[in-house]
Amino acid sequence: METKKKDIRALTKEQLRDFFLKQGDKAFRGNQVYEWLWQKSAHSFEDMTNLSLETRQMLKDNFVINHIKVDQMQRSADGTIKNAVRLHDNLIVESVLIPTATRTTACVSSQVGCSLDCRFCATARLKRMRNLNPDEIYDQVVAIDNESRLYHNRPLSNIVFMGMGEPLMNYNNVLKAIDKITSPEGLGMSPKRIVVSTSGVPKMIKKMADDKVKFKLAVSLHSAIDDIRTSIMPFNATFPLHDLREALQYWYAATKNRITYEYVVWDGINDKRKDVEALVEFCKFAPSKVNLIEYNPIDDGEFQQANSKAIDMYVDILEANNITVTVRRSRGKDIDAACGQLANKS
Ligand code: SAH
Repeated sequence: METKKKDIRALTKEQLRDFFLKQGDKAFRGNQVYEWLWQKSAHSFEDMTNLSLETRQMLKDNFVINHIKVDQMQRSADGTIKNAVRLHDNLIVESVLIPTATRTTACVSSQVGCSLDCRFCATARLKRMRNLNPDEIYDQVVAIDNESRLYHNRPLSNIVFMGMGEPLMNYNNVLKAIDKITSPEGLGMSPKRIVVSTSGVPKMIKKMADDKVKFKLAVSLHSAIDDIRTSIMPFNATFPLHDLREALQYWYAATKNRITYEYVVWDGINDKRKDVEALVEFCKFAPSKVNLIEYNPIDDGEFQQANSKAIDMYVDILEANNITVTVRRSRGKDIDAACGQLANKS
């Protein structure tokens, strides 16, 4: 029986160097292979043309490269691109390229499905099937960087972990992927251009602070009142706002990085003055700004975006309290690529 070959990209550079030493070869070969795998994103051992044919065959006998495959690419009228990405075990995740006048942002997935149960999110309807490996996250970014160069004539400039899944519930792999994305041996991107978005897992926010991460943090808040937040994001019963707030204060004290709150205003749910006042109070706990994001309907009509009067009230009250607020329009709605719409529909 053939033994299962190991995913070569699960090895560190040191482990690759060791492997070559054990084969009676030079450790330096490990560096060459590492460069092919991460800097040049090689899809196969045949691509590694500065290695001898024997070495390439030997690698093939021992390892596999579990590269992702972009199964389907959809382009929106506004330039947004959605990739349906096939993983080596045939599961599918989605990632999105969002172009604006000045930047190209990749929105990437961290899990297949999601274990959280936000009632307004399409991904929540798919149960969590598995975590993505670091290389599967990295590959999504590389695919979008290539598409950005091809269709928009510029490299990728920003990354947001706002695709499928809860990044802080796949923390180790997300961190390893970001290490590769920011390392000069990977894509060499600045961590300041990366945002990890979480529904708010207090213990993990504190861990990120302890780990002194350099990327930015966004929290999907949607309500600063416990009862309301629990009714739309049921896991809030386990991680209530008090714990979230404490973790965010800890984060700010350690990183001095201000927090972005993502917030949708829904008709009849969080569109009252008391909702804005609670948000203002919450924003005082740590330096922060608010992104009011547009609701992208996900079928059942249960949730509806509040009218513009309610949005204006939010903006006026937040600004009167010196809190920075931006109103974000959604992109790529015609191809189900907008926030909360990723559910492997096509
Ligand atoms: N689990 C992470 C990242 C994925 S969701 C998180 O919760 O932050 C990315 C963003 O889209 C979150 O702010 C989420 O609250 C928001 N979102 C989910 N469903 C949405 C919908 N239907 N319309 C608009 N935004 C939505």
